[in-house]
Amino acid sequence: MKIRQDIADMLRAGHSQAAIEKALHVDHRTVSAARVALGLPPRKPGTKPETVEETFARRTREEDGHLIWLGHDYAISTIEGASYSAARWSFQQHHGRPPVGKVFPGCGVKRCVHPCHVEDQPMRQALKAQLARIFGSTA
Ligand SMILES: [Zn+2]
Repeated sequence: MKIRQDIADMLRAGHSQAAIEKALHVDHRTVSAARVALGLPPRKPGTKPETVEETFARRTREEDGHLIWLGHDYAISTIEGASYSAARWSFQQHHGRPPVGKVFPGCGVKRCVHPCHVEDQPMRQALKAQLARIFGSTA
């Protein structure tokens, strides 16, 4: 059985069946089947789901000063139904503002979501302009 990544992630993060159904607009059978296929026990009532911080920590690994995202995709789903990209969430934690345009690791390390390494479009443009001032425009 093919399990949707977002469903699997929310189940592993300890979200309730009802919360997952509501957040991802899926039916009860789909979530139940995914839980069984993943070998996860039924959720105990009153168990608190993971926070975004906890999910981020669980799905990253430090490597030579970088923070490598281990998930298949970059989505972090929350109980409120919001879905964050790990890179965008990391960016916002460090810069205190939502990123503009796409977020890429400025360090050049694939899948790095280190808060100090992720860059958005304006940051890349500023760097390009700075390099052009130093080395002269190549355009
Ligand atoms: Zn990095």
